[in-house]
Amino acid sequence: MRSRFRLPGPTPLPPSVLEAMQRPMIPHRGADFKALYRSILDRTKLVHRTNGDIFIWPASGSAGWEIAVVNLFSPGDTVLVVVTGAFGERFHSVATMLGLDARRLDVPWGEGVSPEQLRQALEQTPGVRGVFLTHNETSTGVANPIAELAAVAHEHDALVVVDAVSSAAGLPLEMDLWGLDYVMSGSQKAWMCPPGIVIAAVGQRCWDAYDRSTYRRFFWDFAASREAAAEDSTPTTPPESTLYAFDAALDLILEEGVDEVWARHASLGAQLRTGLLALGLDILADPRFASNTVTAVTMPDGLSSKIVIERLKRDYDIDVAAGQGKLTNSVIRIGHMGWCDAGDIELVLDALAEVMPALSRV
Ligand SMILES: *Cc1c(COP(=O)(O)O)cnc(C)c1O
Repeated sequence: MRSRFRLPGPTPLPPSVLEAMQRPMIPHRGADFKALYRSILDRTKLVHRTNGDIFIWPASGSAGWEIAVVNLFSPGDTVLVVVTGAFGERFHSVATMLGLDARRLDVPWGEGVSPEQLRQALEQTPGVRGVFLTHNETSTGVANPIAELAAVAHEHDALVVVDAVSSAAGLPLEMDLWGLDYVMSGSQKAWMCPPGIVIAAVGQRCWDAYDRSTYRRFFWDFAASREAAAEDSTPTTPPESTLYAFDAALDLILEEGVDEVWARHASLGAQLRTGLLALGLDILADPRFASNTVTAVTMPDGLSSKIVIERLKRDYDIDVAAGQGKLTNSVIRIGHMGWCDAGDIELVLDALAEVMPALSRV
């Protein structure tokens, strides 16, 4: 069945994921749950390409920002937040709200950040303990060159903290090879699950930082989660139904193959961009940084995204998203992450081929 649900999160659920959520509750401290949880943690490591720890809590992806701050830093620590759009802005405001001395490196929305820009910012800001990066900026459809940026951050002895909410299980992500120290994501994006869990991958270097951190924390404590995970368990009641869904999604991802999943997303991104340009539409992202999980399409002058979104829904039953922040009315965002294939992209392109000329004439 084709999906016409093209939001950049939540994303469509494959039938086996939907079905998994029908499974009954099981004792959360029993042997069956432990076997399930161990298998989920092990397979999640494979998708992140890490030998580090994986911790999962019931929450939406945003919790991942707070989890990083309160486990890895102390109030007053200097960090550098790379802001490439609305999610970078939120990352910065969470860090500031929790008492970090959060500096920022801003680039125009639609641009990615280059290793050279990061190097310059770090040279101008002594004592940075952490660099906060958004791998894939969902508000602009920009994928930042995370491997190169991480290398620059390490030259300055900073911990690399990565928001991979709309990239994990969609874009290439080699956590250990690239030296990413902390990687967070949420179930409802490329993981093709319902909203409900935040996934944090915690690298070896995080543990020194954790030992130094003076934040108070209860729910999000790394050590508590590590102790529980050693027993194939969780510190509090696990969100069983969402974990069932995640279990089924991991099966799909590993059956397809992680490299194949990444290649499929690359092909979907290219297909959509080629089609949009052929229709004479403009893509917000600088082509060098165009994301393969979400695309922001710039509306022609005078046409509000709201009207296009309504028309796609009314006449084609297709859901796409508006822009965020200052881009609310000027772009539509098309999600192509998770359960998505070439036919789904064709549907959107065919609809836009009819809708855009019609609306531009009005
Ligand atoms: C969706 C998203 C978030 C926030 O996730 P929620 O699940 O809505 O809390 C954070 N960062 C990025 C890059 C996202 O795409």
